[in-house]
Amino acid sequence: MGTTLIIGAGGVGRVVAHKCAMNADTFGNIVLASRTKSKCDQIASEISQVKIETAAVDADKSDEVIALIKKVDADIVINVALPYQDLTIMDACIATGVDYLDTANYEHPDAAKFEYKEQWARDAKFQEAGIMGLLGSGFDPGATNVFCAYAQKHYFDEIHHIDILDCNAGDHGYPFATNFNPEINLREVSANGRYWEDGKWIKTKPMEIMQVWDYPEIGPKDSYLLYHEEMESLVKHIKGLKRIRFFMTFSQSYLKHMEVLQNVGMLGIEPVEHQGQKIIPIEFLKTLLPDPASLGERTKGKTNIGIVAEGVKDGKKRKIYIYQVTDHEACYKEVKSQGVSYTTGVPAMIGAKLMLEGIWHKEGVWNMEQFNPDPFMDQMNKQGLPWQVKELKS
Ligand code: NDP
Repeated sequence: MGTTLIIGAGGVGRVVAHKCAMNADTFGNIVLASRTKSKCDQIASEISQVKIETAAVDADKSDEVIALIKKVDADIVINVALPYQDLTIMDACIATGVDYLDTANYEHPDAAKFEYKEQWARDAKFQEAGIMGLLGSGFDPGATNVFCAYAQKHYFDEIHHIDILDCNAGDHGYPFATNFNPEINLREVSANGRYWEDGKWIKTKPMEIMQVWDYPEIGPKDSYLLYHEEMESLVKHIKGLKRIRFFMTFSQSYLKHMEVLQNVGMLGIEPVEHQGQKIIPIEFLKTLLPDPASLGERTKGKTNIGIVAEGVKDGKKRKIYIYQVTDHEACYKEVKSQGVSYTTGVPAMIGAKLMLEGIWHKEGVWNMEQFNPDPFMDQMNKQGLPWQVKELKS
């Protein structure tokens, strides 16, 4: 049995640690490392099935990650730190010949822009090192990519349109808080929107396009078009695609807070002078907002994330909806975490499980939809994320 190294002890890291411990036959020794070791120790103390070792690491420094991988003799690194650390951790995996998985694509700390370019550019080095990198094994990206691959495999000859629909109807009782890392979340939501049609990316203003979608087990919700990273790989890998869009629900109160924060400059990523000190507004805002990890206990309600795919099968039009509903309170009961961290951490564990078991294993750097979706979908049903398929009128 080998060793699994998890880097990042935030909301998602907690779920990954719990879920790997529940699947200890596959994951062997589990080491949880992060910038703040006390957070790792806290999570390890909650897990009784197996002993979780902990360590401190600054994953911005490849050398520190290399030293840790060697010290614990890791077989795989599950990166659930922040997107800023993707490249340093990937480089450490190349240097040590160890498989890699993450849940979010690389984002430069100084530019509110995320893309796969620099991670895909490491494909040849991963192949030379004889290792695998699995990118975006969370829910969206992650399960949503697998839903698209599943639709393509079982329901369509060609998919023409995909809408990814992400609804979080959880209520934590605070006037304003973000469900995962505030800096990452607010940068994503305040950016221009973008969707892909007929081979081109079409830019939209933030929150410019809205549709109401009736989410099963939740009800109708305003859903706004955003750019989301899984579209960058799906446009390459889904046959016959003509349009793909991504929608996320936001309440009027959330949008009003965002607008005010934006207008007063609190979402800025450039340093500003404050009483002789340089501060970055969005980082300061993160200090003021509730820690996403603390929301679990207070959050009630459900999430529903899925895809609607339209296309043709045997010459006939077809439209299907694949979705997954998660209950925040049930997640907290199981692993002391709210649903957004849960729905990200479980697919991270499943991706790593399929890699370690050799079910999904190829040298190089890959996106989720490039693998057979069936074993992943099967594991979702077994590991706490049961999904549904509905045939819609096309
Ligand atoms: P959190 O902010 O709760 O946790 C991030 C963790 O990473 C913290 O423990 C933090 O340490 C640690 N960390 C930050 N910088 C470093 C560093 N330089 N070295 C080592 N550790 C570091 O974030 P989440 O758990 O909510 O999110 C984790 C990842 O999951 C993010 O990349 C996020 O974008 C992604 N995500 C993906 C989703 C999907 O569906 N695909 C959905 C939601 C999130 P410290 O505690 O010291 O700050």
